[in-house]
Parts: sequence; structure tokens; C-alpha cells
Amino acid sequence: MLLIKNIGTLATARGAKPLAGRMQNDGVEMIRDAAVLVNGDRIAAVFGAGEPLPDAERVFDAEGKLVTAGLTDAHTHLVFGGWRQHEVHLKLRGAGYLEILQAGGGILNTLVATRSASEDELYDRASAFLDEMLMHGITTVEIKSGYGLDAENELKQLRVIKRLINNGYDVVPTFMGAHAVPPEFAGDADAYVEYLCNTVLPIVAESGLAKYCDAFCETGVFTVEQSRRVLETAKRLGLPSKIHADEIDAIGGSVLAGELNAVSSEHLIAIDSRGVEALAKGGVIACLLPATSFYLNKGYAPARDMIEAGVPVAICTDFNPGSCPSLNLQFCMNLGYLKYRMMPGEILSAVTLNAACAIGLGETHGTVEAGKSADLVVWNAPDIDYLVYRMGSNLVSHIIRKGEVIL
Ligand SMILES: [Zn+2]
Repeated sequence: MLLIKNIGTLATARGAKPLAGRMQNDGVEMIRDAAVLVNGDRIAAVFGAGEPLPDAERVFDAEGKLVTAGLTDAHTHLVFGGWRQHEVHLKLRGAGYLEILQAGGGILNTLVATRSASEDELYDRASAFLDEMLMHGITTVEIKSGYGLDAENELKQLRVIKRLINNGYDVVPTFMGAHAVPPEFAGDADAYVEYLCNTVLPIVAESGLAKYCDAFCETGVFTVEQSRRVLETAKRLGLPSKIHADEIDAIGGSVLAGELNAVSSEHLIAIDSRGVEALAKGGVIACLLPATSFYLNKGYAPARDMIEAGVPVAICTDFNPGSCPSLNLQFCMNLGYLKYRMMPGEILSAVTLNAACAIGLGETHGTVEAGKSADLVVWNAPDIDYLVYRMGSNLVSHIIRKGEVIL
């Protein structure tokens, strides 16, 4: 048993379902002078002020600091080869997406680097990224494939994710073959979609290496009909849907997310009222990626409109080598505060319970309650207002992952 005592404030949501509307903020409880008892890798009990504390073999003194559940990053692309630092100055000089692509850059650059990397190389890089994330308070991570874009290399990415899971990382795998059209199918997205549905998806489903299927529904990538074809096929094979939608244009991706009762829809910078309504009706969680907006110098998703409409909002990094080379979810929380104008409580649910629900882990993760996974962060902060107000620093004091004190 491990007793974490002398917690100044324990800030946590409750339950296993995503928080929406007013509850996204009001559902976060502040328990003063708290303590948490951990048994193995599970939380055994939570104590409030004045409650008698049990004896435990190990005691950790939180010294009056803020404690929350470990953060969940529900949207990353962190298994990839190479980097794309040389594209940034081209972009800053005004080069468009196509110009960068023609200069050998963009997603095809990452595709080539990922295909030529060995499974061991990809594993070593990915595990280093996850270690860095852990040091920033992120204990659970979703990872998408989508830089292989053929059966062999998509499975290679998914096997790397499986190895991460086998080695103790708390990771959820998503298949994203519909991330871009690979060079072999250039100019014929329909043929690539058929290849995905007839060849790749059945193998992926059979392998058991993916929990979800994601598709990039966007002008110049996949149309609504192509995305629907991929996601419906995946659904029939047992893989629920996620959708990258309305990042640049509201072509109907978020409406499709609602129709398919997708577990989540991502980006949503350009979402319109029809899309917001569809997400609310379909029970879809909005995974918002403010650091990508920041990095691309684009607008920010209308988070307040979604919250007011009853859509549960999660905030994630979108860590990838092109549009968001940052894995610091704390920075995304700062942006959520300043750019989305979300309340501190809304932000905390967005990176804990709602994010956990967006990857199907609401029953076991995302709150500090008896029975849940003992993933906690002790912060160098007195309260959650301070957590979202300080910017650019890593405010983690200690991490408790599966009951083990790290750092
Ligand atoms: Zn993404």
C-alpha cells in the first residue's frame, strides 16, 4: 500500500462518462487537505480533510501541492521516422502545402522516412517520446498509424505500438491508413480507399493491433463519401470510428462523425453550427488540438460554442512531425485557457476524464477515485488556476504511474 498524504488540493472529475455542458466545469471537485491510498496499481480510497488515515508501508508527502489524475493525450501520431524542421522556413516565407510537397516535404517526407525505418528504430524513438510525455504529466496516450500507408508499413507501425503496450506504456492504438493518399495511388483516392477496405482493413482487424479507425475527411484528402466508406467498413470489422474533420473546411466531416456515432472527432477549427449539432446529437467527443492551430498560425476551434451545445470537449497535443512537433500537453492547456477561453475546470476535464473517454478508458482512467488506475500527478502548483496560467514551464513535481512514484 502507498499513502499519498498532505495533498493541498485534489482536483478531480468523477465517474466514467464524459462531462458536457456546465458539468464540464462544475463536475470537477476540489477536495482540500486530501489523501489517496493506492493498492498495487489501483486507487484504493480517497480521503478528505479530517478523515482518519490508514497505515501504509509507503508514505508519500505531497507537501500541500495540487494533485490531479495523470493526463491523457487522446490524439498523437508519435510513431514516425525523420523530422521536418527544414520546411518551417519555407512555410514562413509563404510556400503553400503543394509547393512544400513538390520540394519533397510534407507528409510524403514522413512517409518515406517511416517506411525506411526499422521496427526497432521506430520503437526506440517512440518510447523516448513517451518517456518525455510522462515527465510532462501524461500517463496515457493514443497513437495513430498513418505514415506507412500500405499494409506492410501500417502493420509495422501498429506492431511498434503493441510493443510499447507490452513494455508497460499505457497506450491505445488507432489505425489511420486514411491519413493521406500514398504516391502509389497519386490522383486516385478512390482506388486507395478500395485498397484500404478490401486489403488493409481486414488484415488490421484480424491482427487485433488496433482499437479504433480514424480518417482524414478534408478538402484535398478524403471526401465525406470516401471517409464514410473506410469508417463503415472498419465499423463492420469491429473498429469504432474517429474522424479528423473540419480542420480547414467544413465539408461535412463532423456531420458524418455524428451520423456514425463516432467516439470522437478531431481538429474542428472550421466546424459550423450543423456540425456542432451533429456532434451533440451523436454523443461525439470533440478532440481539440490548440497547439496545431498555434503552430500553423490558423484559427482556433470554437470550443465555447461546443461546450454550450453540450459537446464534451477534450484537449490533445496532435504530436506529429509536421503540424505540431510539441508533446507538451501543459502548453495545450495554456492555449485552451487563453485561446478557447475555457475555464480551468473545463480544461482539467478535457485532459483527464473526457480525454480518457475519447479512447474508451473512462471506466478505468481519468479521475482520482477508488478502483481507477493509480495514475496521478503532483504539481508544483497550489491550484488549477495556476496550472493553466503559468506558461511554457513544466510544472510537474512528481508522477505516480500505476502506483509507482516516478521522478
Ligand atoms: Zn491528427
